[in-house]
Amino acid sequence: MPIINRIADFHDDMTAWRRDFHEHPEIGFAEHRTSALVADRLRAFGVDEVVTGFAKTGVVGVLHGRARGDAIGLRADMAALPIQEETGLPYATKTPATMHACGHDGHTTMLLGAARYLAETRNFAGTVYVIFQPAEENGGGGQVMVDEGLFEKFPMRMVFGMHNWPILPEGVFAWRHGPVMAACSAFDITVIGKGGHAAQPHTAVDPIVVAAHIVTGLQTIVARNIEPAETGVVTIGSIQGGHAHNVIPESVRMTGTTRWFSPAVGDLLEAGVRRVATGIAESFGARAEIDYRRTYIATVNDPDATDLAAAAARTVAGEARVVPMLKPTMGAEDFSFMLAAKQGSYIMLGGGRGPGDAMVHHPKYDFNDAILPVGASYWATLAEQLLPAS
Ligand SMILES: [Zn+2]
Ligand SMILES: [Zn+2]
Repeated sequence: MPIINRIADFHDDMTAWRRDFHEHPEIGFAEHRTSALVADRLRAFGVDEVVTGFAKTGVVGVLHGRARGDAIGLRADMAALPIQEETGLPYATKTPATMHACGHDGHTTMLLGAARYLAETRNFAGTVYVIFQPAEENGGGGQVMVDEGLFEKFPMRMVFGMHNWPILPEGVFAWRHGPVMAACSAFDITVIGKGGHAAQPHTAVDPIVVAAHIVTGLQTIVARNIEPAETGVVTIGSIQGGHAHNVIPESVRMTGTTRWFSPAVGDLLEAGVRRVATGIAESFGARAEIDYRRTYIATVNDPDATDLAAAAARTVAGEARVVPMLKPTMGAEDFSFMLAAKQGSYIMLGGGRGPGDAMVHHPKYDFNDAILPVGASYWATLAEQLLPAS
């Protein structure tokens, strides 16, 4: 059975919803319009109970099947990114410097499509919770939902997540047992020197030269401190210091991230960033202030739940279009907090490379509407297979 016919029937509706979300993106924990629309649509579909204001802007829809039974959760994320869109599309963002550049507009729409079908057909026994999570991009909304009692208020056997992936061909699913996305940190380093005249460097402590050495030094942590067979990343994502060509500034600020899977590597990366930044700054007579925050834990799939997810994907896409994901990605995802608390799995759905070959988080990226019924059919099939009506 390929895409569910009834879901294919409302492909046009889903495309319109998706483009409307795209035009009105909202940053994490501020998804007010998005979450109100989600709740309104769920009510209009006849979803049995719609809980709003969960983890600020989160929404949970409760769908009961035609008989009693088990319960599962299906999760989509709703947040946009602080990126200036450059797609030039007719439905491009109307909000400056805010963009659905990760396809969460599509994720929200696919789960809405599944909810509409499930509410209409009820071809399952038990309960399906459709979870619309806020603030995946940096806000850790997944953790807030767990902390606010997601699994106590909505008891479920398993929970599932999905992300579109442009580098996978359109409509191809990729599954993976165990780690699928990395743990991550965000850190700020402020190098404090002594400002002065650019022509009198001996009277100053130049924080720009110190920062340059720190950037280079940080790259030795992965190369020289982490066991080569292990995986880790240290990236400096921004550096700001000074305003004029003839002034040595007082300080330089850098921001960055580290990524890892093994807890031991996570500890080494944090210790390394602190040691290298502090030590280099001191050796130049400057000082480094470091604010290092571990943000997301690694996303680790349960093998049994993953096999069930892959089986549902095969039903929708066919054997040949469901493939193992050979390597995890060093991206990070706060569905990790749900998977740490509950058995479940996170699957990738290919979107194809699209115009401009833009990956997620690129200003020219756009979600591929062709996969809306594929993703919605996957959710619906997963619910029907895990909670069989007879
Ligand atoms: Zn993202
Ligand atoms: Zn994303």
